[in-house]
Amino acid sequence: MPEPFLPFNRPELDEREAEALAEVVRSRWITRGPVTERFEAALSRYLDGMPVVALNSCTAGLHLALKVLGVGPGDEVVTTPYTFAATVNVIEHVGARPVLVDVEADTANLDLNAVPHRISRRTRVLLPVHFAGHPVDMDALAEISQRHGVAVVEDAAHALAAEWDGRRIGTFGFLAAFSFYATKNLATGEGGALVVPDPALRARVRTLSLHGLSQNAWARYTERGQWAYAIEEPGYKYNMTDLQAAMGLVQLEKLEGMQARRRALAARYHQKLAGLPVVLPAVRPRVGHAWHLYPLRLRLEQLTCDRSAVIEALRAAGIGTSVHFIPIHLHPYYQRRYGWRPGDFPRAEAYFAAEISLPLYPGMADADVDRVADTLARILERYQR
Ligand SMILES: *Cc1c(COP(=O)(O)O)cnc(C)c1O
Repeated sequence: MPEPFLPFNRPELDEREAEALAEVVRSRWITRGPVTERFEAALSRYLDGMPVVALNSCTAGLHLALKVLGVGPGDEVVTTPYTFAATVNVIEHVGARPVLVDVEADTANLDLNAVPHRISRRTRVLLPVHFAGHPVDMDALAEISQRHGVAVVEDAAHALAAEWDGRRIGTFGFLAAFSFYATKNLATGEGGALVVPDPALRARVRTLSLHGLSQNAWARYTERGQWAYAIEEPGYKYNMTDLQAAMGLVQLEKLEGMQARRRALAARYHQKLAGLPVVLPAVRPRVGHAWHLYPLRLRLEQLTCDRSAVIEALRAAGIGTSVHFIPIHLHPYYQRRYGWRPGDFPRAEAYFAAEISLPLYPGMADADVDRVADTLARILERYQR
């Protein structure tokens, strides 16, 4: 009998999330309200007291970060080609120009050594991504930001619980956007949060996240609420709901345990996959990896097949995988807009050509890791030169 399908991802949900959702439903207050405020407080505690605004996505957080920093037409934002489209789309949304810098060959993170050469008079923001949950060098990032007077916005979609020198990502004093999308380390279906240390910027993020309505306007339907409201500027509809926040509170309580399980599974992959014609994900010194992804790379020069043949063979064996990411400069929109071509960012392309993201989530058993590793070993043996 064939083994059951092992999906690439499955959020770690149980009756606790279901009960928390039911409580919100019974309360009849289902959009932003008291539960979202509790979630913001709990997330802030997790981030050593750094203040956060809960939103409906990480993308919303990145967009609002650029807005409140005043980034607009004529400005440049230095970022990575190795990311999800959202990171670069928001630069387009504010009318600024993305300046891509190639990645490090081992981590696929923005190569900070190359960044200073690409900073111009127009550069307003550095927008690094902590790919797979492996943080960029935060000391180097802070140094470049200070020396060149350029703000930092972290795309921390993969990096909740990631650490640099024992300090959590999101606590370094920069704007940082987290994602609580269904596949991320903390899942609320859709959801996100933006760390905004500065009180004035934070007030503006709150206003912009709810149409541009004056502060706490969400409370206008409560007993003590006022019917009147004032539009300060044309904002967006980016607020979190109490339904999402209720799940988020439970997930936050489970986070430490979920992260311990991710670390154990990653360590088991490391051990089981050693010796195969693959490159294991790098973990640099001083890094606490969040293990959002387990990005394996095939040593294609030792194989007679390409990456998709391996993905197909894994699928045929009942194992789901994914690929992270199709580099930004290979997408048609960005090619048309900026004239980017294959070959422009060779390290990103090489990483992409060889990458397969293996299943990695807290609900996996040790036996699931063994099954993936053994199946992969059999497949690669078939194709070895
Ligand atoms: C998931 C993801 C996002 C977007 O997160 P949403 O919450 O879905 O908006 C942004 N950047 C990266 C690197 C991501 O993986």
